[in-house]
Amino acid sequence: MNYHRYYPVDVVNGPGTRCALFVAGCEHQCRGCYNKSTWPLNSGMVFTQELEDQIIGDLQNTEIKRQGLSLSGGDPLHPQNVPAILKLIKRVKTECDNKDIWLWTGYLLGDLTNEQQAVLPYIDVLIDGKFVQELADPKLLWRGSRNQMIHHLHEKF
Ligand code: SF4
Repeated sequence: MNYHRYYPVDVVNGPGTRCALFVAGCEHQCRGCYNKSTWPLNSGMVFTQELEDQIIGDLQNTEIKRQGLSLSGGDPLHPQNVPAILKLIKRVKTECDNKDIWLWTGYLLGDLTNEQQAVLPYIDVLIDGKFVQELADPKLLWRGSRNQMIHHLHEKF
């Protein structure tokens, strides 16, 4: 998996203070996408074991307490990203106390393949659906267009 940005402290992508990772790779080609540079799977930088370890360490850090991890892109559920995302979120849920995981994807929850569905037990909140320019609304919280849905799957907070 490749990624474009990692913010160890983020306050705009999900509730509270968070870690936020923006991965590379998206096949949805939404008109009006403002992250076009993330579409190619091989764009950005390689997501290394060191960065995975850093994210776990940042989430465990008690000096700057994070509420959780946000995963966006690109699309974290691009089939080629799923194995690395699954490995990361399993670690978050076993090694980090009470951290929520929010994930943004262009796929619809009901259309996820078996491989993509494997992430769902670890995701607290899934925001799904392509960005549709005609339904865009800057007043929406956590989503860009009205067709996108916020699914609270396992939210404990
Ligand atoms: S899903 Fe997101 S990153 Fe992918 S094309 Fe649509 S708006 Fe862009």
